[in-house]
Amino acid sequence: MTSVPELLRVGPAVDLKDIDPSSTPGLPGRRVTGKDPKGWAREQLGSLGVELARQQEMLFAAAKAAGDRRRLLLVLQAMDCGGKDGTIKKVAGAMNPLGLHIVGFGPPTEEELKHDFLWRIRRALPPAGLVGVFNRSHYEDVLVARVASLVPERVWRSRYWQINGFERELANEGFTLVKVMLHISYSEQRERLLERLTDPTKHWKYNPADVDARSRWTDYQAAYNDALSRCSTDHAPWYVVPADRKWYRDWAVANIVLEALKDMRLSYPEADFDLDAERRRLEADRAPAMAS
Ligand code: AMP
Ligand code: MG
Repeated sequence: MTSVPELLRVGPAVDLKDIDPSSTPGLPGRRVTGKDPKGWAREQLGSLGVELARQQEMLFAAAKAAGDRRRLLLVLQAMDCGGKDGTIKKVAGAMNPLGLHIVGFGPPTEEELKHDFLWRIRRALPPAGLVGVFNRSHYEDVLVARVASLVPERVWRSRYWQINGFERELANEGFTLVKVMLHISYSEQRERLLERLTDPTKHWKYNPADVDARSRWTDYQAAYNDALSRCSTDHAPWYVVPADRKWYRDWAVANIVLEALKDMRLSYPEADFDLDAERRRLEADRAPAMAS
């Protein structure tokens, strides 16, 4: 059977128009599981989370005890309301916070604008042994920067190969890169924006500028198509996850990250001390004399 990551991995000429945001590739049907797909996916997310946490611990331990330089970086991109925050909560949330390195990217600061677009990205990379998550990334520099004409065309055009070179460098340094685009439909975005207006606990998430970006939907989809097609490489593949159904989105992203961790063939490091000698030392010790 084709794995979920294989099904969602982007080919050399992706067109988001061909991917149905409400589809559920790789999700076994009711006839196979005997359960309602949503309930089944939510239930599975629990066991995927346990395995994610175990893999993450092995990655952490290998760096700590054996000097392993490897790490994983999950890059999340989406249109507004695409579900990046929710995915982080559900998928990264299954792992140990100590082993996570989560960074969000907003408009560049004055300081950041003084440097090239990868400067702030390099500073935010996860240290060895950690699972990094980028909530938006250097891809904004070929998405919003292109659609909103923040830089001239020749500048954003040169960024695709700069990104590929940068990601190649990261892969050589021991990064496993997993790039996920959460793909929602125009109508689902509208529902989610309306919900942010209706629910007072979600007003803080509403940004009137999101509606301006929404009015450029077609341009954004074209910019995404180019970024996905040009920058999905063997060392840093892109995945498009249909994201109208939150339960499918979480299940699919958990699968993709878990497969990437398993491909790293992680294991717990062996003790570099004499186990028996240490055990004898502890068994023989006595309580310290109480201070008088
Ligand atoms: P949010 O993810 O809702 O906190 O919004 C972050 C905002 O920052 C979005 O509107 C992004 O388009 C914007 N942003 C992120 N990176 C860049 C960038 N490199 N250049 C311009 N805007 C950016
Ligand atoms: Mg926002």
